[in-house]
Amino acid sequence: MQKKMQSFQPSKKLGQNFLVDKNFISKIVNSINPKLGEILLEIGPGLGSLTFPILEYIEKLYAIEIDKNLSKKLKNFFPSKKLVIFSKNVMKFNFLEFYRKNNKPIRIFGNLPYNISVFLLLKLIEFSSIIKDMHFMFQTEVANRIQAHPNKKNYGKLSVIIQYFFKVTPILDISKQSFFPIPKVNSSFIRLQPHICSPYYVKNVKILSYITNIAFSQRRKIVRHSLSKLFSEKKLYDLGINPLLRAENISISEYCRLTDYLVKKNFLIPK
Ligand code: SAM
Repeated sequence: MQKKMQSFQPSKKLGQNFLVDKNFISKIVNSINPKLGEILLEIGPGLGSLTFPILEYIEKLYAIEIDKNLSKKLKNFFPSKKLVIFSKNVMKFNFLEFYRKNNKPIRIFGNLPYNISVFLLLKLIEFSSIIKDMHFMFQTEVANRIQAHPNKKNYGKLSVIIQYFFKVTPILDISKQSFFPIPKVNSSFIRLQPHICSPYYVKNVKILSYITNIAFSQRRKIVRHSLSKLFSEKKLYDLGINPLLRAENISISEYCRLTDYLVKKNFLIPK
């Protein structure tokens, strides 16, 4: 890895902090547990810290890398039938078309560039039905928000929306020193699996998102106040929600109940 880096100037803008700690790399690869015949898609392979060891287990890997210099370097190491690189921005990648070509649920993984990690995760929600699982490295602060439970200070809209779609499992916390260049923040590696038998269901996820947006944008207020434009105090009681609680005390199932009520009322999200 050091040799590969000598001729390469990492880009801050593209979040290029490469994993260099062999011990952590091996733990990450073990937790992904790639198997022959599976469709694996790596986001941001960079200089291949995860790409090389993953390719020891499977015959073919797909990857999306925005930096053309890096894709070129990786393409020199592997024949195109072993490593297929899409040289493009993952935010513009057509996951549905990719799924249709392979016709198998996708396993997605990557040490994500931190500046796009949340946007990407929110985009991937849309494709949860064609995803088998996802293993991602996030800034620890973001990973904590994703997996937070009610009554915790980092429980918020991101926790509700992501956990509505995925079961989240923490895997590893990784120290800054495991990357080159050393980033300012700590990192955590987590697994996200679409629920097989979902504990939650709403008819309109946009309304769920709308309610959580309003509730958490005033998270210090009690919901009788923060949600007063949507629910009367009596209605909150009727729906089994204590109006004196704050947004962070309301569970995902309770947000779903609030959503169902608005859906039944044919509520339209204001433009
Ligand atoms: N996987 C490598 C590793 O662990 O050492 C590199 C990880 S580095 C944190 C993030 C990688 O994502 C870089 O290679 C960067 O060029 C790439 N990247 C950044 N923004 C991207 C985007 N929008 N689409 C695809 N790749 C992107």
